[in-house]
Amino acid sequence: MRTSFVGDLERILGRGRILRNVPLAPLTTMRLGGRADFFFEARTADELCSAVRIARQSDAPHFLLGLGANVVIGDCGFHGLVIRNAARAAHLDAASGRLQAESGAVVYPDLIDMAISAGLSGLEHYVGIPSTVGGALWQNLHFLAPPPKRERTMFIEEVLVEADILSEEGERRRVGVEYFDFGYDHSVLHYRHDVVLSATFQLDPADPRRMRDIARANLQWRSLRHPPLDTEPSVGSIFKKIDGIGAGRLIDQCGLKGATIGGVEVTHRHANIMINRGRGSAADLQALIAYVRRIVERETGYRLETEIDFVGTFAPPTDEPVIFAPRPPGLVTAEELAAKRAATT
Ligand SMILES: Cc1cc2nc3c(=O)[nH]c(=O)nc-3n(C[C@H](O)[C@H](O)[C@H](O)COP(=O)(O)OP(=O)(O)OC[C@H]3O[C@@H](n4cnc5c(N)ncnc54)[C@H](O)[C@@H]3O)c2cc1C
Repeated sequence: MRTSFVGDLERILGRGRILRNVPLAPLTTMRLGGRADFFFEARTADELCSAVRIARQSDAPHFLLGLGANVVIGDCGFHGLVIRNAARAAHLDAASGRLQAESGAVVYPDLIDMAISAGLSGLEHYVGIPSTVGGALWQNLHFLAPPPKRERTMFIEEVLVEADILSEEGERRRVGVEYFDFGYDHSVLHYRHDVVLSATFQLDPADPRRMRDIARANLQWRSLRHPPLDTEPSVGSIFKKIDGIGAGRLIDQCGLKGATIGGVEVTHRHANIMINRGRGSAADLQALIAYVRRIVERETGYRLETEIDFVGTFAPPTDEPVIFAPRPPGLVTAEELAAKRAATT
C-alpha cells in the first residue's frame, strides 16, 4: 500500500478531509468493533467515485460503509481507508414515477417518506429497515408482502430500473436491473468489486392512505420481533434461512435464547438476532456465533451460515463461559401472541 494515497485524496477532495484513527463502532448498528486507520466521508457520488479510484490506484485496502447495518467490524479495526457513503441527493419525478437517488441515500425514512408523500408506491414495504441505497442493492433488500396475506417475500429488485456504477475495471457505466444477478440476500456486488454510485427506481401511483397503512403494519410487525436499535443494538438476522427453515426456529428449538458470551446475547425477542448489551465486542459476537452453530449442528444436524459481512482485523474469539440471561419480565414474543390469538378464536 502506498500511503501517498492520503496526499492524493486530500489534493483532489480537499485538505483535512481524510481523518485518522476513527472509531467505527458508532457508525454501525451493532456498535462494536475497532477503528479505521484512515476515514473519508463521501458527500456526493463524484467524491465517492474519486475516493474509490484513488484507493484502487494506490492498492490501498478500502471498504465502503453505508449505515453499517449488515457489517461487523473486527476489534482490531480496519487497516486502510474506510469510505463512508454520505452521498444522499435524491430526485423524484412525480409525473413519471421515477426516483433517482445517490447510493448513500437512506431508504427509510428519507426515500420512503418522499415517495409516500408523492403518492408513489414500491418502497413502503421496507419501512424500519436501516439501509442506504447501495446496501439495499448489495443485499437485495427484502421484506414480506403486505398484510393480511403476507404471501411472499418482496425484493428491492422489483422496483429497480438501472444504476450508475464504478465498475471493477474502473469505468463509470449505467447498468440495467438484469446486471445485478439478484437472488435472496445476493447480488453481483458480492463477487464483483463494483461500486453503486446512484440508482433509479420506478414507482407506481397508489393511495397514500393504503401505503401508510402498510407502513404502520410493517413497523408494528417489526416492533414485536426486533429489538429496538437505540437500546439493544444489533445487526439484524445473523444466520441465513436453511432449506426454507428460519434459523431462528432452529436456535429457539435448541433453547438458546438468552445465551450470552461477554457483552453479546441471543435476544429473547428473536432467536436469530444477537444484541450488544453495552460492552460487547466483535470477539464476543464471534464466540457466540461459533457456540450457536455448534449446538444447532449437534442437536438438529443443520449447519448454519452467517448472512452478515465481516470486515477488518479480528481478535481471537472470546474465551469466556456461556451464561444464560433471564428473559425480561413482561416480554411477549410475536409467536406467543399469535398462539394466544389462535387459542381465543
Ligand atoms: C434491526 C435490523 C433489521 C433488519 N431487517 C432487514 C430486513 O427485513 N430485510 C433485509 O433485507 N435486511 C434487513 N436488515 C439488514 C440490513 O438492514 C440490510 O442489509 C441493509 O441493506 C444494509 O444497508 P447498509 O447501508 O447498512 O449497508 P452496510 O451494512 O453499510 O454495507 C453492507 C455491504 O454493502 C456494501 N455496500 C454498501 N454500499 C455500497 C455501494 N454503494 N456499492 C457497492 N457496495 C456497497 C458494503 O461495502 C458492505 O459489503 C436488517 C438490519 C437490522 C440492523
